Amino acid sequence: MAQSTSIEWTQATWNPVTGCTKVSPGCKHCYAARMANRLEAMGQPRYANGFRVTLQHDLVELPLSWRKPRKIFVNSMSDLFHDAVPIDFIRRVFSVMESAGHHQFQVLTKRAERLHSLRHVLPWPRNVWMGVSVENERYLERVSRLAEVPAAVRFLSLEPLLGPLPFLPLENIDWVIVGGESGPGARPMHAEWVREIRSQCREWGVPFFFKQWGGTRKARTGRTLDGKIWDEFPHPPLEGERRAPTPTPQSRRPGGPPRKRPRGGSRTPRGPTPRPWSRGSR
Ligand code: SF4
Repeated sequence: MAQSTSIEWTQATWNPVTGCTKVSPGCKHCYAARMANRLEAMGQPRYANGFRVTLQHDLVELPLSWRKPRKIFVNSMSDLFHDAVPIDFIRRVFSVMESAGHHQFQVLTKRAERLHSLRHVLPWPRNVWMGVSVENERYLERVSRLAEVPAAVRFLSLEPLLGPLPFLPLENIDWVIVGGESGPGARPMHAEWVREIRSQCREWGVPFFFKQWGGTRKARTGRTLDGKIWDEFPHPPLEGERRAPTPTPQSRRPGGPPRKRPRGGSRTPRGPTPRPWSRGSR
């Protein structure tokens, strides 16, 4: 598996599982599906099953052999919380991440429901960053579920961003990545959507990472927003540090009551979450 990657927010990928099934509109042009089918056609033995979920048992311990510390994106070619991945296998993956404490592991899922249901049976070492993907407002529920997972770092990948997200529930979220869709048939992402997310991150004190504009030729559109590259990262807790308890709505906004989402939608109070491990400004 790849020890290096072009994904801007990580340094390596590790795929103890390959293959997946599409669950929501963000999956429509799934890069992993395209690649897996291509590799199957090329006769790559690891992709003999194409994009069907396949456990790559011989790769589970791979990161233990990587001496140099790095950020590792777990399952860029799959979703670790897919129903077809047995709990025992997920546990093995977490156990390896715990043992490889010199790395930072970034796990990303769209299966927030399963993640949430397993949150108490998995270990949550400091070096595991847990994230969910959200493409539009309809899937904000994934964020609420992630917020209850006891991971040291909880992050959002808003890519491919397919609609505005004016009411992001950023309480207890430590990092936000935004990106537009790229490749054939890429759907558009509006600059106002990105700026609105950046503003919410500023308000909450959450690091903001702008990955790309995307489009059919992503090298041309680049990743500059308002003349700047936004490459902010979270600060994982140091040894012995613990996450602050969730603040009450009253403690969040000393100047008044929390904001409410209009039109009877879910409430999204705002205000900076205390982060005891913050170092420097964000
Ligand atoms: S969940 Fe991720 S890997 Fe699975 S089909 Fe959707 S985009 Fe692809």
